[in-house]
Amino acid sequence: MKIAAFEHAGEYQVGLVSQDGSHVRPFMLSSDKRPVGLLCLIAWLESGGELPAVGDALPLAQVGLLAPFRSFRRNLWCVGRNYRAHAKELAGSVFQKEQEDGWPMVFTKVPEAVVGPHAEVRLPTEVSEQIDYEAELAVVIGRGGCNIARADAMKHVFGYTIVNDVTARDVQMRHGQWDLGKNLDGFCPMGPWVVTADEMDGCNTRVRCWVNGELRQDGHTADMIFDIPALIETMSRGITLYPGDVIATGTPAGVGMGMQPPRWLRTGDVVRVEVDGIGAIENRFI
Ligand code: MG
Repeated sequence: MKIAAFEHAGEYQVGLVSQDGSHVRPFMLSSDKRPVGLLCLIAWLESGGELPAVGDALPLAQVGLLAPFRSFRRNLWCVGRNYRAHAKELAGSVFQKEQEDGWPMVFTKVPEAVVGPHAEVRLPTEVSEQIDYEAELAVVIGRGGCNIARADAMKHVFGYTIVNDVTARDVQMRHGQWDLGKNLDGFCPMGPWVVTADEMDGCNTRVRCWVNGELRQDGHTADMIFDIPALIETMSRGITLYPGDVIATGTPAGVGMGMQPPRWLRTGDVVRVEVDGIGAIENRFI
């Protein structure tokens, strides 16, 4: 299934996208569940609930796609330095030391930074001159759990979506900790929908990013340093993961900062992030 959130006729809806991506059928959710959207639906399905009935198909071109989640339970989990070529391109700047202890580098993004798959993102040039993109596959947790073993980890995946982990590099590096540089308003475009785990293999898919039509990132999730089971195992160590938690899995090589000289996002730039098996998000920066 592809599950999208969208606005139609002034109403917030969550719906089932047709296989060819041309139509969406809204789920008939109760008035208390509908505003919460996908977070509510995942919890319902994971507790054994049946898929809700759907209404009439609407052409996708006639609805406004939104980020798949409107409400989050908490911050999004994120991983830094998870592709070797990317670790190399930012060695000595963002990544000050080689991580030799075999653990992923984890940070979070606040839900308030999340915007839709086609939203315009404002460049906060008053606080940063070094704004960069990061194309990423994001994992959506279905069944929750604590101390999830690697061997069981994939059973806890509900599905996948796409995020652009937009980053203000100068801010990221000057505070000794990444939160401020990662959490500016609009710095987490997400979508265009969630694809359920039965329809794609997140451990074996291609992640690409274009800026103004120029291919900048072209990675493959099989090249992750810490694969999806390793990330779920690590993040659930003594911390309960819940249905609807999101884990952004890190970005491949090709970010603007890794170029010689670096190429930062400028007003008018259009960033497209595509993950095979999901689709694409495309955001204009202004
Ligand atoms: Mg990232």
